[in-house]
Amino acid sequence: MNNTGTKTQPYSVDAPQPAIEMRDITVRFGEFTALDKLNLTVDDGELLTVLGPSGSGKSTLLNIVAGSLYPTSGSIHFENKNVTDLPPHKRRVGMVFQKYTLFPNKTIAENIAFPLAIRKIDKAELNSRVTEAIEMVGLKELADRYPSQISGGQAQRAAVARAVVFNPAILLMDEPLGALDRALRKSLQFEIRSLQRRLAVPTLYVTHDQEEAMSLSDRIVILRDGLIAAQGSPRDLYENPNSMWTATFLGDANCFPVEGGLEINGAETHVRVLGGKSVPARGLAGNTLPEDAVIVVRPENCIISSNPDTDSTFCGATVKWVEYLGTIQRIRLTMDSHEATVYMPGRETGIEAGEFVYVGWKAEHALVVPRV
Ligand code: ATP
Repeated sequence: MNNTGTKTQPYSVDAPQPAIEMRDITVRFGEFTALDKLNLTVDDGELLTVLGPSGSGKSTLLNIVAGSLYPTSGSIHFENKNVTDLPPHKRRVGMVFQKYTLFPNKTIAENIAFPLAIRKIDKAELNSRVTEAIEMVGLKELADRYPSQISGGQAQRAAVARAVVFNPAILLMDEPLGALDRALRKSLQFEIRSLQRRLAVPTLYVTHDQEEAMSLSDRIVILRDGLIAAQGSPRDLYENPNSMWTATFLGDANCFPVEGGLEINGAETHVRVLGGKSVPARGLAGNTLPEDAVIVVRPENCIISSNPDTDSTFCGATVKWVEYLGTIQRIRLTMDSHEATVYMPGRETGIEAGEFVYVGWKAEHALVVPRV
């Protein structure tokens, strides 16, 4: 315990210590580097989601935390204790996978009791913890059924109960809702989130579903080729992406290459895009422009008009097609040989394919980022 507050300690007295900390984790498979000097923490009670394209290192990261894979170099710490060399069963890790991994020959109650039984918890305590866990996930009536006698959603709830019943140091969830249909995913997302909050167990969650990541997470970390490309709260990552890659990975984004240099216009900074059109933009710290830059404008921040407003950000565009999706309509346009997407509320009508329109956005919605 640090009670000296000296600078030689890794944390100040007041700063909460991370529940889980990965320090300079590198994983190599032969010549191939799957994780490259990765530094990552999960705070107490935090739900951290790992996103990234296929092959970016998400499963490798989970396996390192679980202990089913040892890093080539670097260390991993649970509550400040180095667990790098500990095998999985000595790490207090709760796991939930996409495929329900319940034992088919044990009842739901016996499945949930299993992690306590192997830890030789005494009978009375085991029974009370199992009862509490079963009630927590709403499976009291189904406690004596076998996994083949319950639904996919109920099986995943049982898997969650089994993963948290022994008070794990961390809960790992690898695509836990991946095998379920959309409606069930939504309701279980909500249940998992409330349960995780209630238990305040630090959680590392892997999903391919960006909407799921946005709705569940306190923080998201995006992996790209074994490196952390970006991390932050869902809102911050979406509204302030650090690169064109992050902007297009997380949601839809219009990216227009910046042509030429900066223009300072009083308090506003302008860049030229779309064939020399001068538009105000933000994100230019110290008024410096990255060497190869684009402006990012999210489709929902674009405005379509039949008149070129007096606002100078309006640019001419030709509508290629309109997709009606209920809540929104997705409008695809061509602007000075660039393709662009605009979202409009579904209830609005009047935009037709082939039409010439003007597309604009507010200065605060045009973010300059490097084209990497
Ligand atoms: P996906 O979303 O497809 O599950 P992922 O982000 O989980 O992908 P990983 O499974 O962590 O990716 O793999 C990262 C990289 O490491 C991939 O290029 C993969 O081919 C490689 N890799 C993983 N395990 C091994 C192994 N045992 N031997 C060699 N290469 C491996």
